[in-house]
Amino acid sequence: MRVTILGSGTSSGVPMIGCSCPVCTSDDPRNDRMRASAVVETGGRTLLLDTATDLRLQAIRFGLERVDAVLYTHAHADHLHGIDELRVFNIRQLSEIPCYGNRDIVERIRAYFRYIFDREGAESFRPFLQLHEVTGPFQAAGVPVVPVPLWHGALPVLGYRIGDFAYLTDVNRIPDGSWCLLEGLELMVLDALRPRPHKTHFSLGQALEVVERVGPRRAWLTHISHLMEHQATNKSLPMGVELAYDGLTLEMAEPKPERSGS
Ligand SMILES: [Zn+2]
Ligand SMILES: [Zn+2]
Ligand SMILES: [Zn+2]
Repeated sequence: MRVTILGSGTSSGVPMIGCSCPVCTSDDPRNDRMRASAVVETGGRTLLLDTATDLRLQAIRFGLERVDAVLYTHAHADHLHGIDELRVFNIRQLSEIPCYGNRDIVERIRAYFRYIFDREGAESFRPFLQLHEVTGPFQAAGVPVVPVPLWHGALPVLGYRIGDFAYLTDVNRIPDGSWCLLEGLELMVLDALRPRPHKTHFSLGQALEVVERVGPRRAWLTHISHLMEHQATNKSLPMGVELAYDGLTLEMAEPKPERSGS
Protein backbone atom coordinates (compact mmCIF):
# COMPACT_ATOMS: atom_id res chain seq x y z
CA MET A 1 0.00 0.00 0.00
CA ARG A 2 1.33 3.40 -0.93
CA VAL A 3 0.25 6.83 0.36
CA THR A 4 1.30 9.96 -1.53
CA ILE A 5 0.85 13.41 -0.05
CA LEU A 6 -0.51 15.49 -2.94
CA GLY A 7 -0.68 18.69 -0.91
CA SER A 8 0.52 19.59 2.60
CA GLY A 9 -0.56 23.23 2.77
CA THR A 10 -3.25 25.22 4.49
CA SER A 11 -6.22 26.75 2.66
CA SER A 12 -4.26 29.62 1.10
CA GLY A 13 -1.45 27.37 -0.08
CA VAL A 14 2.20 28.22 0.52
CA PRO A 15 3.57 30.55 -0.83
CA MET A 16 0.60 32.78 -0.08
CA ILE A 17 -0.35 35.33 -2.72
CA GLY A 18 1.63 38.52 -2.14
CA CYS A 19 3.64 37.27 0.87
CA SER A 20 7.38 37.81 0.98
CA CYS A 21 8.12 36.04 4.27
CA PRO A 22 11.14 33.66 4.40
CA VAL A 23 8.93 30.55 4.02
CA CYS A 24 6.91 31.91 1.08
CA THR A 25 10.14 32.92 -0.71
CA SER A 26 12.14 29.81 0.30
CA ASP A 27 14.09 27.82 -2.33
CA ASP A 28 13.37 24.57 -0.47
CA PRO A 29 10.65 22.78 -2.47
CA ARG A 30 9.33 21.30 0.78
CA ASN A 31 8.14 24.82 1.70
CA ASP A 32 6.04 24.85 -1.49
CA ARG A 33 2.69 23.50 -0.28
CA MET A 34 -0.40 22.91 -2.37
CA ARG A 35 -3.80 22.52 -0.72
CA ALA A 36 -4.15 19.44 1.53
CA SER A 37 -4.86 16.12 -0.17
CA ALA A 38 -3.46 12.61 -0.41
CA VAL A 39 -3.91 9.47 -2.45
CA VAL A 40 -3.88 5.86 -1.25
CA GLU A 41 -3.03 3.04 -3.64
CA THR A 42 -3.91 -0.39 -2.33
CA GLY A 43 -4.89 -3.70 -3.89
CA GLY A 44 -4.79 -2.14 -7.38
CA ARG A 45 -7.25 0.59 -6.34
CA THR A 46 -6.64 4.32 -6.05
CA LEU A 47 -8.52 6.26 -3.37
CA LEU A 48 -8.28 10.04 -3.43
CA LEU A 49 -8.62 11.95 -0.16
CA ASP A 50 -10.44 15.20 -1.08
CA THR A 51 -10.44 17.06 -4.39
CA ALA A 52 -8.23 19.99 -3.43
CA THR A 53 -8.24 23.29 -5.29
CA ASP A 54 -4.90 22.24 -6.83
CA LEU A 55 -6.04 18.79 -8.00
CA ARG A 56 -5.11 19.25 -11.67
CA LEU A 57 -1.57 20.30 -10.89
CA GLN A 58 -1.22 17.62 -8.21
CA ALA A 59 -2.36 14.91 -10.63
CA ILE A 60 0.09 16.06 -13.29
CA ARG A 61 3.01 16.57 -10.93
CA PHE A 62 2.61 13.30 -9.03
CA GLY A 63 1.34 11.01 -11.80
CA LEU A 64 -2.22 10.49 -10.60
CA GLU A 65 -3.86 8.74 -13.56
CA ARG A 66 -6.79 6.96 -11.96
CA VAL A 67 -9.34 7.64 -9.22
CA ASP A 68 -11.53 4.72 -8.13
CA ALA A 69 -13.21 6.62 -5.27
CA VAL A 70 -13.01 9.95 -3.42
CA LEU A 71 -13.13 10.12 0.37
CA TYR A 72 -14.16 13.63 1.43
CA THR A 73 -13.04 14.91 4.82
CA HIS A 74 -15.29 17.99 4.71
CA ALA A 75 -16.67 20.53 2.28
CA HIS A 76 -14.37 23.51 2.82
CA ALA A 77 -13.27 25.04 -0.47
CA ASP A 78 -9.60 24.04 -0.21
CA HIS A 79 -10.61 20.35 0.05
CA LEU A 80 -13.44 20.40 -2.47
CA HIS A 81 -13.06 22.92 -5.26
CA GLY A 82 -10.95 20.70 -7.52
CA ILE A 83 -14.08 18.53 -7.95
CA ASP A 84 -14.52 19.47 -11.61
CA GLU A 85 -11.13 17.86 -12.44
CA LEU A 86 -12.79 14.47 -11.81
CA ARG A 87 -14.28 14.83 -15.33
CA VAL A 88 -10.97 13.75 -16.81
CA PHE A 89 -10.97 10.56 -14.76
CA ASN A 90 -14.57 9.83 -15.80
CA ILE A 91 -13.51 10.06 -19.42
CA ARG A 92 -10.32 8.02 -18.92
CA GLN A 93 -12.10 5.29 -16.95
CA LEU A 94 -15.49 5.39 -18.71
CA SER A 95 -17.18 5.18 -15.34
CA GLU A 96 -18.83 7.23 -12.62
CA ILE A 97 -16.75 7.88 -9.52
CA PRO A 98 -18.17 7.09 -6.08
CA CYS A 99 -17.62 9.86 -3.51
CA TYR A 100 -18.03 9.39 0.23
CA GLY A 101 -18.63 11.74 3.16
CA ASN A 102 -20.82 12.42 6.16
CA ARG A 103 -24.27 13.98 5.80
CA ASP A 104 -22.93 17.53 6.03
CA ILE A 105 -20.41 16.87 3.25
CA VAL A 106 -22.92 15.20 0.94
CA GLU A 107 -25.49 17.97 1.44
CA ARG A 108 -22.99 20.75 0.86
CA ILE A 109 -21.54 19.16 -2.27
CA ARG A 110 -25.05 18.87 -3.72
CA ALA A 111 -25.84 22.48 -2.80
CA TYR A 112 -22.54 24.04 -3.92
CA PHE A 113 -22.20 22.12 -7.20
CA ARG A 114 -25.73 21.91 -8.54
CA TYR A 115 -24.49 21.70 -12.13
CA ILE A 116 -23.00 18.28 -11.35
CA PHE A 117 -26.26 16.83 -10.13
CA ASP A 118 -28.79 18.67 -12.34
CA ARG A 119 -29.33 16.05 -14.97
CA GLU A 120 -30.37 18.62 -17.57
CA GLY A 121 -28.16 20.20 -20.19
CA ALA A 122 -24.38 20.42 -20.56
CA GLU A 123 -24.14 16.65 -20.17
CA SER A 124 -20.48 16.38 -21.03
CA PHE A 125 -19.38 19.40 -19.03
CA ARG A 126 -19.82 17.98 -15.59
CA PRO A 127 -18.19 15.21 -13.60
CA PHE A 128 -20.22 12.02 -13.22
CA LEU A 129 -20.26 11.23 -9.51
CA GLN A 130 -22.17 9.05 -7.08
CA LEU A 131 -22.48 10.64 -3.64
CA HIS A 132 -22.67 8.27 -0.69
CA GLU A 133 -23.34 9.26 2.90
CA VAL A 134 -21.36 7.12 5.32
CA THR A 135 -22.27 6.44 8.93
CA GLY A 136 -19.82 3.64 9.70
CA PRO A 137 -17.20 1.36 8.11
CA PHE A 138 -17.72 0.85 4.38
CA GLN A 139 -15.96 -0.33 1.24
CA ALA A 140 -14.72 2.18 -1.32
CA ALA A 141 -14.00 0.44 -4.63
CA GLY A 142 -13.67 -2.77 -2.61
CA VAL A 143 -11.22 -1.30 -0.09
CA PRO A 144 -12.36 -1.41 3.56
CA VAL A 145 -12.44 2.11 5.01
CA VAL A 146 -13.23 3.26 8.55
CA PRO A 147 -14.52 6.84 8.85
CA VAL A 148 -13.22 8.62 11.95
CA PRO A 149 -15.57 11.37 13.22
CA LEU A 150 -13.67 14.53 14.19
CA TRP A 151 -14.41 18.16 15.06
CA HIS A 152 -13.11 21.05 12.95
CA GLY A 153 -14.32 23.91 15.14
CA ALA A 154 -18.13 23.44 15.17
CA LEU A 155 -18.09 21.42 11.94
CA PRO A 156 -18.38 17.62 12.12
CA VAL A 157 -15.74 16.28 9.71
CA LEU A 158 -14.26 12.88 8.90
CA GLY A 159 -10.83 11.41 9.10
CA TYR A 160 -10.30 8.05 7.40
CA ARG A 161 -8.54 4.87 8.40
CA ILE A 162 -7.44 2.42 5.71
CA GLY A 163 -5.64 -0.59 7.17
CA ASP A 164 -3.15 0.79 9.66
CA PHE A 165 -2.97 4.20 7.98
CA ALA A 166 -5.09 7.17 9.15
CA TYR A 167 -5.54 10.58 7.53
CA LEU A 168 -6.81 13.25 9.92
CA THR A 169 -6.74 16.74 8.47
CA ASP A 170 -8.69 19.84 9.50
CA VAL A 171 -9.33 18.85 13.10
CA ASN A 172 -8.96 20.55 16.45
CA ARG A 173 -10.71 17.98 18.60
CA ILE A 174 -11.02 14.18 18.55
CA PRO A 175 -14.27 13.05 20.17
CA ASP A 176 -14.16 10.37 22.89
CA GLY A 177 -15.64 7.70 20.62
CA SER A 178 -13.01 8.12 17.90
CA TRP A 179 -9.82 7.40 19.85
CA CYS A 180 -10.47 3.64 19.77
CA LEU A 181 -10.60 3.80 15.94
CA LEU A 182 -6.97 4.95 15.99
CA GLU A 183 -5.45 2.03 17.90
CA GLY A 184 -2.48 0.15 16.40
CA LEU A 185 -1.69 2.64 13.64
CA GLU A 186 1.42 2.27 11.56
CA LEU A 187 1.16 5.68 9.89
CA MET A 188 -0.85 8.74 10.84
CA VAL A 189 -1.13 11.98 8.90
CA LEU A 190 -2.41 14.73 11.19
CA ASP A 191 -3.37 18.41 11.00
CA ALA A 192 -0.81 20.84 12.49
CA LEU A 193 -1.45 24.34 11.20
CA ARG A 194 1.07 26.53 13.02
CA PRO A 195 2.81 26.99 16.38
CA ARG A 196 0.11 29.02 18.10
CA PRO A 197 -3.44 27.76 18.74
CA HIS A 198 -6.24 28.18 16.20
CA LYS A 199 -10.02 27.86 16.55
CA THR A 200 -10.43 25.02 14.05
CA HIS A 201 -7.02 23.34 13.63
CA PHE A 202 -4.55 21.63 15.93
CA SER A 203 -1.50 23.72 16.66
CA LEU A 204 1.89 22.03 16.45
CA GLY A 205 1.94 21.42 20.21
CA GLN A 206 -1.60 20.02 20.25
CA ALA A 207 -0.80 17.73 17.31
CA LEU A 208 2.23 16.36 19.16
CA GLU A 209 0.03 15.60 22.18
CA VAL A 210 -2.34 13.66 19.93
CA VAL A 211 0.56 11.74 18.37
CA GLU A 212 1.78 10.82 21.83
CA ARG A 213 -1.65 9.59 22.93
CA VAL A 214 -2.37 7.63 19.72
CA GLY A 215 1.17 6.23 19.45
CA PRO A 216 1.47 5.44 15.71
CA ARG A 217 4.79 4.06 14.52
CA ARG A 218 5.31 7.18 12.36
CA ALA A 219 3.39 10.46 12.18
CA TRP A 220 3.43 13.11 9.48
CA LEU A 221 1.99 16.58 10.00
CA THR A 222 0.03 18.35 7.26
CA HIS A 223 -2.19 21.38 6.44
CA ILE A 224 0.83 23.55 7.24
CA SER A 225 0.81 27.35 7.08
CA HIS A 226 3.66 29.66 6.09
CA LEU A 227 4.44 30.08 9.77
CA MET A 228 6.39 26.80 9.85
CA GLU A 229 9.62 26.46 7.87
CA HIS A 230 10.18 22.84 6.87
CA GLN A 231 13.71 22.14 8.00
CA ALA A 232 13.72 24.32 11.12
CA THR A 233 10.41 22.86 12.33
CA ASN A 234 11.47 19.29 11.58
CA LYS A 235 14.58 19.70 13.72
CA SER A 236 12.37 20.55 16.70
CA LEU A 237 10.13 17.47 16.38
CA PRO A 238 10.41 14.26 18.43
CA MET A 239 11.58 10.99 16.86
CA GLY A 240 9.04 9.47 14.50
CA VAL A 241 7.24 12.75 13.77
CA GLU A 242 7.95 14.88 10.69
CA LEU A 243 6.32 17.57 8.61
CA ALA A 244 4.80 16.15 5.44
CA TYR A 245 5.61 17.74 2.11
CA ASP A 246 4.08 17.60 -1.35
CA GLY A 247 5.12 14.43 -3.16
CA LEU A 248 6.07 12.53 0.01
CA THR A 249 5.37 8.82 -0.51
CA LEU A 250 4.90 6.37 2.33
CA GLU A 251 4.93 2.62 1.81
CA MET A 252 3.36 0.11 4.14
CA ALA A 253 1.99 -3.44 4.17
CA GLU A 254 -1.33 -4.07 2.39
CA PRO A 255 -4.27 -4.15 4.80
CA LYS A 256 -5.37 -7.63 5.79
CA PRO A 257 -8.46 -8.78 3.88
CA GLU A 258 -11.69 -8.36 5.85
CA ARG A 259 -15.17 -9.76 5.53
CA SER A 260 -17.05 -8.18 2.65
CA GLY A 261 -19.50 -5.38 3.41
CA SER A 262 -21.52 -2.84 1.51
ZN1 LIG B 1 -8.39 22.85 4.97
ZN1 LIG C 1 4.48 33.92 3.85
ZN1 LIG D 1 -11.36 23.03 6.72
